[in-house]
Amino acid sequence: MNVKQLLADVEAKNPGEPLFLQAVTEVLETIEEYVAKNPKYDKYSIIERMVEPDRIIQFRVEWVDDNGKVNVNRGYRVQFNNAIGPYKGGIRFHPSVTLDTLKFLGFEQTFKNSLTTLPMGGGKGGSDFNPQGKSENEIMRFCQAFMTELYTYIGADKDVPAGDIGVGGREVGYMYGMYKKLARENTGVMTGKGAGWGGSILRPEATGFGGVYFVNNMLKAHNMTIEGKSISISGFGNVAWGAATKATELGAFVKVISGPDGYIINEKPMTQDQLDYMLELRSSNNNVIKPYADKFGVKFVAGKKAWEVKVDIAMPCAFQNELNADDAKQLIANGVTMVCEVSNMGCTADAIHALQHAKVIFAPGKAANAGGVGVSGLEMSQNAGHISWTGEEVDAKLHQMMDSIHENCVKYGKQEDGYINYVKGANIAGFIKVADAMIDLGVC
Ligand code: GLU
Repeated sequence: MNVKQLLADVEAKNPGEPLFLQAVTEVLETIEEYVAKNPKYDKYSIIERMVEPDRIIQFRVEWVDDNGKVNVNRGYRVQFNNAIGPYKGGIRFHPSVTLDTLKFLGFEQTFKNSLTTLPMGGGKGGSDFNPQGKSENEIMRFCQAFMTELYTYIGADKDVPAGDIGVGGREVGYMYGMYKKLARENTGVMTGKGAGWGGSILRPEATGFGGVYFVNNMLKAHNMTIEGKSISISGFGNVAWGAATKATELGAFVKVISGPDGYIINEKPMTQDQLDYMLELRSSNNNVIKPYADKFGVKFVAGKKAWEVKVDIAMPCAFQNELNADDAKQLIANGVTMVCEVSNMGCTADAIHALQHAKVIFAPGKAANAGGVGVSGLEMSQNAGHISWTGEEVDAKLHQMMDSIHENCVKYGKQEDGYINYVKGANIAGFIKVADAMIDLGVC
């Protein structure tokens, strides 16, 4: 394949979509060598087909706010690729959401879901709706209006949405409630449901826990352990909280936590009170970390990013491109051992290149955060079988998944000098399963 030509075509066909182009570029550049050695992929035009979503659904969402005014938002579902299973991926509510955002996320999701070992295709949806500052009733009305449009396109064996930024258990509840009413059925059409109504017990923790299991696997592969390692974490959702909780439980020192307003520096490993307070801050919907510093008497640095503080491990858990080349250089200068991207495409391409060049151990989000959608896949299995598993059972399966993802990254990413290129490993392993399925399934 001619990567330059392919990328030029992708850029021409998807003008003004830098995030999608960034995600595609990273994948194509890392699988190029593998594809060149296996001419069948070229024969079946697998790459050309993979960079084109199966279909995109766009709709108007209208809802009435508490003042009686009618509001209009845009809703989307990008059904990217269902070669290996039903479309699967979250829904994001954030003012920055555009088609570009959801195409990049849907593309990433296809590779990530393939890595989980479960039969799930890739999809993503969302809206430019901003949940910040909205009342409980406004959130409910918006979720219901969104689902009124979406429900004909999804189904337990067709397309199974879940949460993402701005969509947690509460929003999944309102959307699922509306689906149930419209479709007159109670199936596993969404994941991230409450444990009392079909949800998997460990789903809220799964992404963060899985990320830390992946960190552990990477450390083990380099003859290190997590105990005593200092960690910086960005972000406010379930992901950051899950990561902080598991890392603390395993004896790491979560030193820095950041929000859009700045960061805090803990002096000692986090206490249960502090971990619980992270959840409180999140549910306050204010997205600020300063109150943590006020409550626990620790240092707050306003308006700066977490990445300027010296730590052993950095875990971006917030947003795409939240760690750039300057941040990477600062981390490298401070002697960072590992950067584990837990947000989707949390690092810019330049940042990844700088980290890899300095031989910092680097994990891409599609490998490290796959535990979230992995446990969603378990929730689908439980719903289909009308059964429930204990937290221990789910955790054991999550562990197996993260181990398998790590093994695959090593298998396809280990370089001659011993450095493990986890980006390359994850992309090749994710690619093979989807590409081979597309060949098996014929051209249709
Ligand atoms: N939004 C999550 C992700 O980026 C989870 C998706 C899901 O559970 O379907 O993978």
